[in-house]
Amino acid sequence: MDPRRLARFPYLKEASGYLKAGGITLADLLRDDAYRRARARGLERVTGSLEKGDKAPLEEPPLHTEAEVLTEILAYPVARMLVSAIADPYLVRRYALTEAVWGQMRLSVEDAPFVASLAAELDLDLRPSDGGFEVHFTDFLTHTSSMREKDWKLINQVVDRGYVRLSRERTLRMMRNAIQRRIESELPLPVNDEVIEAFRRDAQQLKAMLASRKERFKAAELGKVSITRFPPCMYNLLAAIQNHENVPHTGRFAIVTFLHHIGLSNEEIFKVFGDVPDFAADVTRYQIDHITGTTSATEYSTPECATMKSYGICPGGDLLCHQPWMRHPLTYYRRKPKWLNSGGATSRPLAGPP
Ligand code: SF4
Repeated sequence: MDPRRLARFPYLKEASGYLKAGGITLADLLRDDAYRRARARGLERVTGSLEKGDKAPLEEPPLHTEAEVLTEILAYPVARMLVSAIADPYLVRRYALTEAVWGQMRLSVEDAPFVASLAAELDLDLRPSDGGFEVHFTDFLTHTSSMREKDWKLINQVVDRGYVRLSRERTLRMMRNAIQRRIESELPLPVNDEVIEAFRRDAQQLKAMLASRKERFKAAELGKVSITRFPPCMYNLLAAIQNHENVPHTGRFAIVTFLHHIGLSNEEIFKVFGDVPDFAADVTRYQIDHITGTTSATEYSTPECATMKSYGICPGGDLLCHQPWMRHPLTYYRRKPKWLNSGGATSRPLAGPP
C-alpha cells in the first residue's frame, strides 16, 4: 500500500508493519532526536482533539517526502501513548471522536475498494454496490445505534437479502462511528514507566488543559437550584457525569428526572451533561426530551429510594437519608434546609456534596 495512505489512516494494521520493517524501536521513538517532530505531531494530535475536537477542519499535513510520511505514521502511536498515560475517559472519547471525524473526511476522497478494505479491518461486512455500498444489517445496527434520526432506523432502509443499501455519504458517516468505537475500545493501552517518564511534560500540559475544561463544565449554571441540597445519590451521579465517567442508563434516567422535578429546563439539564461529543449530544437530548415528557406521553417520576437501592445507585446515604420517613431523593432535597436549620447533621457520604 502507498505509505501516504498509511499516514492518512495510521490505524490500518499495515501501518504497524511498516514501522516494524523500518526497525524503529520504542526507545528510539521516545528519546531519539530524529523523532522529535513525530513526538510533537503526536502531541498536536491530542491537543487538537481537546481544543477543537470534531469542529475543526482537518489541515492535511504535507506528505511529500518519506520523512514527512514517517512523521505522520509515528505521530499516531505517540498520540495513543499520551492518551494512555493520562487514561482519562473523557480524553479517550474526545480523542477517538476526533480521529474518527478525520477518518471520515479522508475517506471522502478514497475509492470504493479502499473504503471496503478499511471497513473489513473494522470487522464490517461491507461491499461496494451501485455507486454506494451495502452493509450487513447486523453491522448497520451496531454502528448506527446512536443515530436517533428517523432516516437511520432499519425499517426506513432498503434491505436486500440481509444487506442494507447505503449511499456513499451515509456509509462514511457510519464508518466514522466504527472508527471511533475501535479506537475507544483500544484505549487506554498499558504504558510502562519509560513511556510515562518520556512524556511527563506533555502529559502535564494535557492534564492542565483537561482540568480547565472540566472546571468550565462544573461551573455550568444549575440555575435556581442548590447543589448543596442534593442527596448523596444525585450528587454522585452528577459528579460522575461531569467527570465523563460511564454512568449506567438507570443513573442517567434518575438524574434527569431529579433535575427536571427540581425545576431545571431541558436546556439546563443538557448543559449539566457538559461538553458531550456530537453524536452523544443527540442521544442525550433525545433522552432528556423523552424522560421529561417533552416528546413522549409520559413525564417520568424520579425513582424512590427503594428503587435507587435496587438499581445499585444509592451510595448508602447520610444521616438525613437514614431518617425513618426518608423514602425519596426529592424529599431529601426539599427537607434538607429545614433539617440543617433544626440542628440536624449530615455525615459526609462517599463522594458527598460540598
Ligand atoms: S437513601 Fe435515598 S436519597 Fe439517600 S442516597 Fe440513597 S437513594 Fe439517595
